[in-house]
Amino acid sequence: MAERSVKAPKGTKDVLPQDSYKWQYVEDIARRLTALAGYREIRTPVFEHTELFLRGVGDTTDIVQKEMYTFKDKGDRSITLKPEGTAGVVRAFIEGGLPSSAQPTKMYYLSTPVFRYEKPQSGRLREHHQFGIEVFGAADASVDAEVINLALTLFQTAGLKQLRLNINSIGCDKCRPQYNDTLKAYLKEHEGELCEMCRDRMERNPLRVLDCKVESCQKIVAAAPKMIDHLCEECAVHFEDLKKYLGALGIDYAINPLIVRGLDYYTKTVFEIISDNIGSQGTVCGGGRYDKLLKQIGGPDMPGIGFGMGIERLLLVMQSEGIEIPQPSITDVFVCTHGEPARFKAIELTRELRESGIKTDMDHCARSVKAQFKYADKIGAKTVIVIGEEEMEKGTVVLKTMETGEERVVRQEEIKLFLQL
Ligand code: ATP
Ligand code: MG
Repeated sequence: MAERSVKAPKGTKDVLPQDSYKWQYVEDIARRLTALAGYREIRTPVFEHTELFLRGVGDTTDIVQKEMYTFKDKGDRSITLKPEGTAGVVRAFIEGGLPSSAQPTKMYYLSTPVFRYEKPQSGRLREHHQFGIEVFGAADASVDAEVINLALTLFQTAGLKQLRLNINSIGCDKCRPQYNDTLKAYLKEHEGELCEMCRDRMERNPLRVLDCKVESCQKIVAAAPKMIDHLCEECAVHFEDLKKYLGALGIDYAINPLIVRGLDYYTKTVFEIISDNIGSQGTVCGGGRYDKLLKQIGGPDMPGIGFGMGIERLLLVMQSEGIEIPQPSITDVFVCTHGEPARFKAIELTRELRESGIKTDMDHCARSVKAQFKYADKIGAKTVIVIGEEEMEKGTVVLKTMETGEERVVRQEEIKLFLQL
């Protein structure tokens, strides 16, 4: 009896060979755009000490309270699988001594696995993958606009048309404490109408109440005082500058005073890019400025800004907008053999053609000539090269163009001349 098969854990998704080209397509765009704008790749571990995320993400967030994959390793250390991309990058930046290099430092990470214990549904997984960028050491709003523009350019290059950009400013440690008090006072008046979670949030992090999805809370929130109306001079000027830079780039946006983002570390600019085509998990990209984070993680007082973009959601949106991703061929030339001596010739020829940059494959299953042709057709070979006993004797091959059925006999040393694919 066959063993019971082991299934993938809930909330994870395989990327099978017939789909991986879609990932590579968006990864290629991401690499190209980041390179053009001076961003270099950073790779950090999949797991970190739990403390990094407690400090870096914030202990009032959903991520830290409910979603982290945390466990003790065999050395009794508390370890957490990366629940977001930024904290690890900040740690690596500090630990790698980069604060003393020329600033700003522009970095990206690509298809990084991110783990969150969530209720799996379309566009919401327990392991998903993010493309993200981070810029450390630049405070000007021009870099906020550059970061937003990079995300939008990626979507545009991928062919997406129906995305909305929402921006907001959530102030800084000069203006937010005072606003928090104003908001808290307002929420106190409506305490009875808030959900249980928000009654708790109200005390610890009132801004997060603005983000609540519960209908009764949303009603209260609609009339609540907004951070955007209580910014200090510096934050107000920064937000005005951002709007001017976005204007200079011809970027459309809406100001949404309810965007606060799920992470505690944001200051000033926050933004989200949303699709209305994939249901309620429509946020494809979210980001913002985090001018206090580096210091909080033990580094210098240095500003930062970045975004995280979910690759699975991006691909869902591309699918919903009917974007066809060009599918690369598996192989262009298939070498079909009859008899053992021909197989030795075939393996040599296959290597030679590959070395010339031609996608080539041969039979590895000792199939009949007929079955080899069938297989070549299935994998989309445009040309089949046949080597049998007669060809071995004469030093020739038969070169068949699959689309037309045209066949010609070619000398073995001249094959490449005829492979004008
Ligand atoms: P949401 O509000 O949908 O939970 P979030 O605010 O938690 O999103 P971020 O922490 O900003 O998301 O992560 C950046 C991006 O990563 C999101 O915009 C989204 O595209 C993607 N993402 C986040 N969580 C998931 C998940 N569980 N599954 C798939 N993609 C996700
Ligand atoms: Mg979330």
